[in-house]
This record gives sequence, C-alpha cells and structure tokens, in this order.
Amino acid sequence: MIVKPKVRGFICTTAHAEGCRASVRSQIEYVKNRPHAGNGFKKVLVIGASMGYGLASRISAAYSFHAATVGVIFDKPASGSRTATSGWYNTAAFEEFAAADGLYAKTVNGDAYSQEIKDKTIALIKADLGKVDCVIYSLAAPRRTTADGTVYSSVLKTVGAPYTNKTIDLKNKTVSDITVEPASAEEIEATVKVMGGDDWKLWIEALKAADAIEDNAVTVAYSYIGPEITHPMYADGSIGKAKDDLFAAAKEITAADDGIKAYISVNKALVTQSSAAIPIVPLYISILYKVMKEHGVHEGCIEQMSRMFNEKLCGGSVLTDSEGRIRMDDLEMQPEIQAEVDRLWADISTENLSDHADLDGYWEDFYKLFGFGAEGVDYEAEIDQNVNIPSIQ
Ligand code: NAD
Repeated sequence: MIVKPKVRGFICTTAHAEGCRASVRSQIEYVKNRPHAGNGFKKVLVIGASMGYGLASRISAAYSFHAATVGVIFDKPASGSRTATSGWYNTAAFEEFAAADGLYAKTVNGDAYSQEIKDKTIALIKADLGKVDCVIYSLAAPRRTTADGTVYSSVLKTVGAPYTNKTIDLKNKTVSDITVEPASAEEIEATVKVMGGDDWKLWIEALKAADAIEDNAVTVAYSYIGPEITHPMYADGSIGKAKDDLFAAAKEITAADDGIKAYISVNKALVTQSSAAIPIVPLYISILYKVMKEHGVHEGCIEQMSRMFNEKLCGGSVLTDSEGRIRMDDLEMQPEIQAEVDRLWADISTENLSDHADLDGYWEDFYKLFGFGAEGVDYEAEIDQNVNIPSIQ
C-alpha cells in the first residue's frame, strides 16, 4: 500500500517501512565513517533499542566496535491495514544490515519492565553470548506495571508551584503562555517508579544473579538537565525527580563494588517521540535547533551516541564532569549558545516564530521518527508494510 503520515497530537499513527530502513542505513553510514575508539565493547544489551537514543546507541556500538547487540523493544508488527510501529521497522532494518555485515543482532519484543522479558533476554544472552560487557538503559515510557500488578503512570508536571512560560502549538504555529500545574505527591512517586532507577537496578541484579554480565561491565542510562527556562518543567519537575533517582541508582550500582560501573549520560535535547509530549520543551528545542545549526554544532541522536561511545566512554578513561556524569549536552550548554537562545526566547511570539525558531527542522525530525521525509524514498510507491524481524523472541 501507499503509506502517508497521519499525525494525531504528539504522535504519528502510521510508519513508513522504507523510510525507516533509509534512516537506519544513514545512521549506520554515519557511524562507519567516524573514527572509532580502540577498546570498545563486544557484547552490548540495549534496553529501549528501537527508537531515539536507544537505537542510536545500538547502531553506534555495533558499527564502532563490531559489537554483538541484543535489543529489548516494545513494538507492534503490521496488522490488517495498520502499519507496524516505526520502532518495529527500525529494528527489522537494523537486523537486516547487521546480518549483511556479519554482526550478531537479536531482539526481544515485550515489556522491559516485566520479569518475563528480563528472563527471556537473559536466557538469550546466556545461550548466545555468555555475558554482556555493556548495558544501555534507554527506556522512555508513560507507564510501568510492577511485579505485584500495580500500574504507575508518569506525569510531566512541576513540583511545588505552578509554572507559566511560553509554549508552542506546533500544528497551528502559534506561541502562547501555558501554566503547568504541580504534581501531587502520588504523581511524583509514580513518575519516579516509571522513569527512575528502580527497574535499571532490577535489570543489573537479574543479569548478575544469572552470571550474564562481565565483572568489569559498564552500564549507562540517559538524563537531561537543560537551561533554567526548562528547569521547573524538567530538571526540577516530576521527571527531574525521576532522573535524580536514576542518578542515585547509578551510584548504588557502582557502590556494590563488584567491578560494574554505572553512569548517567546527560544528553542533548532532541525531537523524539518522548520529548514532543513535554510542555514548553518543544519551543526550546525549536529555538535551540536554529542556534546550534547556525553555529555549526547541531547534533542528532546518532551524532550524540557515536561521540559518547567513541570519545567519552571507550578508549581509555570515562570522561565525566565533577559529579561523575557524562556530559553529551556540552555543546548545547555552551554559554554563547544559551545566551542566544535566551535572547530569542525573550522576544519570540507567533509573529516572529519562523524567524526565531527552526520549525521546519523540528517537523523534519518529527516526520523522520516515523520514516517520512527520508532521502531517496519514493513515498508515492506501493510498499509492503508486513516486514519481519528475523530474530524476534
Ligand atoms: P524514545 O521515545 O525515542 O525511545 C524510547 C524507547 O523505549 C523506544 O524504543 C520505546 O519503544 C522503548 N520503550 C518504551 N517503553 C518500553 C517498555 N515498556 N519496554 C521496552 N521498551 C520500551 O525516547 P528517547 O528520547 O530516545 O529517550 C530515551 C532516554 O533518553 C530517556 O531516558 C530520556 O529521558 C533520555 N533523554 C532524552 C532526551 C531527548 O531530548 N529526547 C534528552 C536527554 C535524555
């Protein structure tokens, strides 16, 4: 069938198999053509491997170090007239290219928070790889069901007081004020359960208990800090409380003193399926894109993750800030970048929106998440939307 984008709110309900394949191929080409650190990882588990930072991590590890990768995803194949999710198509394409390049790549599809998927993944690692030497934890999820059946939902709210600032209506291209209300104590607790470090620790414990992780393994989870205008909404908001918990989990995992080292990588703000849903942040991202592109320092997920693996994580000592965090937001947080963002933020309105922000760049990245707008793809052509992931478990 001919597949067109159908955008509903923050998501697109269709995905283009050929476009996703082209996007994965171009990410692979990018990594192949970058310099690679000498002593990289050999067997990498990526939890949340089908999109955004997780997919870019999987591609970077595989194509920088020839690493074998096991990916945990939560995606749907095509069914009837519905296309598969873009994460499904991305993973199918990644496995196809990896196989052609002689790289081991297998995928487990299901809820990464569940014990069943942990057991399945660990059984696969034990059978095929023995042990992993790197675990990337890159989940961004709206909810989590814990072992006792309780469902926790995360919220994107402030903590303590309401916060009013500018936000963008991307569809109608307007800027207006929005007031974000504070989360209740229960909502904060639930957000920490979903996006905090509890499940990351459970994964590492389960891998250790099954002797499926090397003694000197490294594990990394992702966080965001950003500038002050976003703090009430992000770093100091309900999601920020979860990220504090993630950071505490990194310290706990490392403190077990069994050789496994856990890090938080603070990544750049980028358009992904998750960040599009956060109030205020998409306006900041559109201004940031404009400024970083003008300064020639803009990066997407693949540039970020390729740089993280090859320049900060491998090839000698891990490069961190004074608090032990890997800072992939180093270019975003440069004073001259932030000063320019501040200037534009103070002045931005519906009237000057396209002048002050890179809306086209925002939408381009948004559509690309779902396989639309990829170079060299004929979007008027009939395609087969039923694509298999060869190894799916
Ligand atoms: P994303 O939505 O692109 O990717 C999230 C991945 O998690 C997807 O592959 C999704 O399928 C998977 N997933 C979600 N629920 C799952 C479940 N229950 N079981 C298995 N897989 C599941 O998001 P992203 O922006 O790449 O976020 C990844 C991490 O990076 C998050 O911790 C996020 O906070 C962090 N981060 C994002 C940004 C940003 O601007 N996008 C910046 C800094 C840090």
